[in-house]
Amino acid sequence: MRKDVRILLVGEPKVGKTSLIMSLVSEEFPDVVPYRAEEITIPADVTPERVPTHIVDYSEAEQTDEQLDQEISKANVICIVYSVNNKKSIEKVTSHWIPLINERTDKDSRVPLILVGNKSDLVEHSSMETILPIMNQHTEIETCVECSAKNLKNISELFYYAQKAVLHPTGPLYCPEQKEMKPACIRALMRIFKVSDLDNDGILNDNELNFFQRTCFNTPLAPQALEDVKNVVRKNMTDGVCDNGLTLKGFLFLHTLFIQRGRHETTWTVLRRFGYDDDLELHQDYLFPLLKIPPDCTTELNHNAYLFLQSVFDKYDKDRDCALSPEELKDLFDVFPYMPWGPDVNNTVCTNEQGWITYQGYMSQWTLTTYLDVQRCLEYLGYLGYSIITEQESQAASITVTRDKKVDLQKKQTQRCVFRCNIFGASGSGKTGFLQSFLGRNLMHQRTIKEEHKSYYAINTIYVYGQEKYLLLHEVFSDFDVLSDAELSCDVVCLLYDISNPGSFEYCTKVFKQYFMDSKIPCLMIAAKSDLPEARQQYAASPMEFCRQHRIPPPQAFTCNTAATPSKDIFVKLATMAVYPHMSQADVKSSAFWLRASMGATLFAVLGFAMYRVVIRPR
Ligand code: GDP
Ligand code: MG
Repeated sequence: MRKDVRILLVGEPKVGKTSLIMSLVSEEFPDVVPYRAEEITIPADVTPERVPTHIVDYSEAEQTDEQLDQEISKANVICIVYSVNNKKSIEKVTSHWIPLINERTDKDSRVPLILVGNKSDLVEHSSMETILPIMNQHTEIETCVECSAKNLKNISELFYYAQKAVLHPTGPLYCPEQKEMKPACIRALMRIFKVSDLDNDGILNDNELNFFQRTCFNTPLAPQALEDVKNVVRKNMTDGVCDNGLTLKGFLFLHTLFIQRGRHETTWTVLRRFGYDDDLELHQDYLFPLLKIPPDCTTELNHNAYLFLQSVFDKYDKDRDCALSPEELKDLFDVFPYMPWGPDVNNTVCTNEQGWITYQGYMSQWTLTTYLDVQRCLEYLGYLGYSIITEQESQAASITVTRDKKVDLQKKQTQRCVFRCNIFGASGSGKTGFLQSFLGRNLMHQRTIKEEHKSYYAINTIYVYGQEKYLLLHEVFSDFDVLSDAELSCDVVCLLYDISNPGSFEYCTKVFKQYFMDSKIPCLMIAAKSDLPEARQQYAASPMEFCRQHRIPPPQAFTCNTAATPSKDIFVKLATMAVYPHMSQADVKSSAFWLRASMGATLFAVLGFAMYRVVIRPR
């Protein structure tokens, strides 16, 4: 909302502009007034809308046309004053003042106008008959009011309407010609309805209405008031109330009613609470709250955010099959201005037999977005109304920024839950197959995936020493010119070659030597397509020798050409190396690490030996 309001009064001489201002300020009619009142500022706390308000007078006798132009362009709302007993001053409203103001303001950002008929104490009849046709002709006229500076009639109302015209304009909400809300307003209210309909049954029940009321207006609705609201709707339409709750139709009807009764500030309060700005777009501050991410830190969703996303999943998984059908997914993203997930998402995360995203897959995709593009994640959470439903300050409350990875390495421990593995390999060496295997898909299944629906990412959960972690696999395009920072600074590197293709190993050696030989990032060599006959690699050293020379673990045989789902062992190894990089620095290169990682018993044996030494040393 605006920080202040500037009201300008214009009109023919002697209609009472200066008297109106003086009457407002002194609460009595001044017998003698100057040509022009000084600009006055009413402090925020004494105005009804709690914003500082400047009131500016105009006098033809004291001001030039240039000065008038300047004031018009500075004003947020303009009151055109006429005198109800002076026909000429009414004529001038349309013949002079409205055209003059319109010439000086943009067509798209017209200032709202208020027609003010002063000196109502002097006449018996009202000027409304003459004024209403003018109002119908000029939609920029927000409202009209008859008042008297002498009787102090409608003076404070006049300034309140002026303030309201600026702070809660009807223009974006309502079309007076059609007598209905504008499409953008309906769209916004539909989203608000959907977000507030927590159980997604298409009806706001008493609980949901109370929550809505509390979020928007900070006070619960008395049970009787709730009934009254529903009764008003019932009286006006047949399907506005259903099962004692408000339907979307009823909800929209209520807002139309508010606006038609001049209570559009109610609708504005609702819209603003749900993040909308004066143009009925979601506010940038709402969608993209400030979130600082220092270098070498990653972004993850915190526990509260996962709980919220779980509730969203449950809300839309109507058949409770723990997966989102295309219709359910469409329903979920109905509150978005666009469909955020394309068909590639189905090949980035786990799906069920029908190819629908499962609960696990859904959570994985959110985790991926948070990790790769936290701004986008904040935006998405904004559409879902995260900060409103969870009563948080902003969408940023959903994010954990992890500590600097260098500190993790130094302290040899990490609180992180998401780890990134980049996969390098010559074209056709089996990278995509490797990614898809992580989602439990064998070669047969992979052949059904359309080329345009393929993904360069795969994310899934995996257990590392009993703790659930997310492992994010990223296939690096083989023909790269330069590697981005993200591609260089992952948690573990996979170098993958095709054992049946003699030319494929050399690619891995090149990438390794150029980028990772001297880095601290653990590397693992994957001998892919191990179901095929092995060819001799055209490289000076054999893969086994190369790994030994460079102190990296020996090549790991891998195949996704399996009858059942491919084995997960290799991914456990990768995740373990990613979570415990210090171990891999010292131990991974020796085979002892692998024994420990794969066999718990060996780990205990090693520990037991260490304890034995500690115990005997003091003697
Ligand atoms: P301005 O030129 O538009 O600023 O008009 P003024 O405030 O100077 O008022 C012009 C004359 O109209 C003065 O003599 C005022 O006393 C008188 N006047 C202003 N408001 C009213 C009103 O509400 N009723 C009556 N009867 N006279 C008014
Ligand atoms: Mg004056």
